[in-house]
Amino acid sequence: MSNLRYRQLPESLYSDQAPQPFTDMTLCDLNESWLEETPHQSAYRCPVYLRDLLNGQLPDQLKPLAMKYDGHQFGHYNPQLGDGRGLLIDEIHGPNQQLFEVHLKGAGMTPYSRGGDGRAVLRSTIREYLGSIAMHGLNIPTTNAIALGASRDWVWREQQEPCATLLRVTPSHIRFGHFEFLYYQRNPEETSQLLDFVMRCHYPELSSAEAWFDKLVKRCARLVAKWQSVGFLHGVMNTDNMSILGETLDYGPYYFLDEYRPRHVANHTDSQGRYRFDRQPGIMRWNLAALAQSLSQVIDAKVLIESVNRFQDYFDEAYRHEMLAKLDLSEEHTGLLERWLELLETHRADYTYSHFLLAQDVTTNFDTLKALFNGDAAFDNWLNDYLKTSSNIDERRTRLRQVNPKFILRHHLLNEVIAKAESGDFSDIAKYRRIFANPFQDHIEDDAMSIPPLKPVPVSLSCSS
Ligand code: AMP
Ligand code: MG
Repeated sequence: MSNLRYRQLPESLYSDQAPQPFTDMTLCDLNESWLEETPHQSAYRCPVYLRDLLNGQLPDQLKPLAMKYDGHQFGHYNPQLGDGRGLLIDEIHGPNQQLFEVHLKGAGMTPYSRGGDGRAVLRSTIREYLGSIAMHGLNIPTTNAIALGASRDWVWREQQEPCATLLRVTPSHIRFGHFEFLYYQRNPEETSQLLDFVMRCHYPELSSAEAWFDKLVKRCARLVAKWQSVGFLHGVMNTDNMSILGETLDYGPYYFLDEYRPRHVANHTDSQGRYRFDRQPGIMRWNLAALAQSLSQVIDAKVLIESVNRFQDYFDEAYRHEMLAKLDLSEEHTGLLERWLELLETHRADYTYSHFLLAQDVTTNFDTLKALFNGDAAFDNWLNDYLKTSSNIDERRTRLRQVNPKFILRHHLLNEVIAKAESGDFSDIAKYRRIFANPFQDHIEDDAMSIPPLKPVPVSLSCSS
């Protein structure tokens, strides 16, 4: 008996691969609230077991594998992708009795490593660990992370850096790139098998492949609408980083906006600005079109194109819904939303903080709020018009606080927790986890972490990880 449903798939989609243990391994943090939802007898409740998994020491009954997939990177097809440093190691029950795959990231080399060392560094592993916990806290579909480990072994990036590993969980790690691989292999038979598997395991409520694809298009449109609404920049929306569940997947050079700069590019290697913040919806559509092409060997292309063409409507509707909720406005006041975004952009106001202040008592916060807009009289006019749209301020504030987080995983905060961890002190990781898992709560003792940096620098992140 195999421990992984993924093994039901054709063998071309994976390779058996054992992890390569480290010289030493420390369990830095674990995701308590997630692990509490695993069954009582689960070994995953034991920190020593988690530490061993993070170190690549697996019990005999686990038969790990590396997945094969391809994908379009920056618009160009790359036939040589796959799990180059991560392994699917297990499947466990998590929240709501759902079955989750467990993936060990940083586990060592695989047949798909393409000359890479198979490792992940502490910096990028902390970024993924906290990034996915923060997204989950913001109620945005995402893979999650349940444990983080650090080793004293090191690898070379731009400099010598310590290695780390992460246990990632999601019901499915299948990417758009899985279908692209089979398409470029000209293999309709295995494409059908993969499609059946995805539908049977993850979309049992649907009876046709056409309905499945349309649902995925809708989920992806809603996902990007949510990203835009919290100011999340993914940074590397290649098709191999796109989940067939419509979840946020692969946290690389991501960035939560400080100042509202819709044209911001977070990824240092993205010289064309392909993955710019305001281009994310268009890129998601492009990625879905690439997936549609791959599916065209088994689904009528005309139907697929119709679904891709519905993306914009799905996105517009979801985005309007998310953004109007952030201001607690109804459809008729869309003009006020547009004026607000213009003000934010003109003054490069802090995106999260300005929404958060608006959800408080604006009379008390008026000066702080106005300062974000450099004292511009246009802001006073806007605020006057905005306040007229609600007759019950208290109820509005309650609703606003439910959708506008106080805490966002800011770049400078991540840098602080990473620097401390690199010096051997992992204690802040748990503190960050607790705050960002509940970003709408007050956490009064950590108020300072909700304040934007005094001088935010436009962030440009290296892809190395
Ligand atoms: P990413 O940018 O993390 O999405 O990775 C893109 C591809 O490169 C995936 O196929 C990864 O598995 C692979 N990869 C990234 N880093 C490494 C590494 N250090 N060693 C081997 N493969 C890697
Ligand atoms: Mg990736």
